[in-house]
Amino acid sequence: MTRLSADIEARFHGLRRIIGNTPLLAVDYSFRGCRRRLFAKSENLNMTGSLKDRMALHILRRAYEKGAIQPGALIVEATSGNTGISFAAVGRALGHRVSIFMPDWMSREQVRLLRAFGAEIHPVSAGDGGSLGSIARAEELAASTPGAFLPRQFTNLDNCEAHEEQTGPEIHWQLGAHGLRPDAFVAGVGTGGTVMGVGRYLRAHHPDVTIHPLEPANSPMLSDSRRMGRHRIPGIAEEFIPPIVSLAELDDIVAVDDGDAILMAQKLARSVGLGVGISAGANFLGAVMLHDRLGDDGVVVTVFPDDNKKYLGTDLLHDEPVRPEHLTPYLTVHGFTSFNRACQVCDQSEDLVKMAGALSV
Ligand code: PMP
Repeated sequence: MTRLSADIEARFHGLRRIIGNTPLLAVDYSFRGCRRRLFAKSENLNMTGSLKDRMALHILRRAYEKGAIQPGALIVEATSGNTGISFAAVGRALGHRVSIFMPDWMSREQVRLLRAFGAEIHPVSAGDGGSLGSIARAEELAASTPGAFLPRQFTNLDNCEAHEEQTGPEIHWQLGAHGLRPDAFVAGVGTGGTVMGVGRYLRAHHPDVTIHPLEPANSPMLSDSRRMGRHRIPGIAEEFIPPIVSLAELDDIVAVDDGDAILMAQKLARSVGLGVGISAGANFLGAVMLHDRLGDDGVVVTVFPDDNKKYLGTDLLHDEPVRPEHLTPYLTVHGFTSFNRACQVCDQSEDLVKMAGALSV
């Protein structure tokens, strides 16, 4: 393992304080007359406002430890949005230049945010291959730039490890502090890092827990790639099954209609002030479906991957037509409380031990 310089170590230390160890929200709701509580990690509270900060920080940390990236090197990534914003910000914080290839249909807010962090942006049209084309172009640029680092989020196991070492343990400890054990976990699949990593940790500690990937019902790539279509849940459902996803390790796939996800995200903001993104609406509905199977006392956990700010120019702010298959119209959100950040996974205790040591000298 390569030893990190004091400067880089200090930068990682600063970042660790503002990425990860998010509160766990306990959201009270009623569905078709049954009152229940489900749990969601508030990932919008990360540094740039999404769960991808965890992955960016962990991948870069591991890359430094492996000697795969040098200070000041160019970081090149293909991304559908949040990943680029995370690498742009975390990369800059560590002193890197960042170049992002992305499909040209991403939201204007997302592109502007990337620009705000000083990233170079390369839009790739559907005609040039969209997501897959972005990956190919990122590989080409990295190959022709000496020392460039490619995080390769779709194939890099450090992506899953970020969630196996952090998000999963946080959920375990936060529930445990309240005498609870998870029965089911569900998360929309973009790269699949979240569902695979959290799933591995929770299964190792709770053998009976079920782990469910979620996809848009109108683009069910995981269950039937022939029915891949357009959908409006940014951040999930790529045009391929990411190599780090192993469906054999997971339980059944949950499908949510994109219009229903929009209605649910709107409802969380309007009824209790939780301004979350569209994939959070989808994850909430996925959790509601699993709750239906498990019964009212089931402990179902999910994540709210990001907030609503990047989607203000999308259908999230439109009047979404209600269709007969939608669940949101039968659902009332009453309120939420939040379970504190988990001390077992933060370095507070480490600092306290050091402080106590210094005092006793
Ligand atoms: N929701 C949003 C908004 C995202 O940006 C992402 C990441 N692409 C996800 C969900 C899915 O996370 P993962 O890549 O870990 O599967």
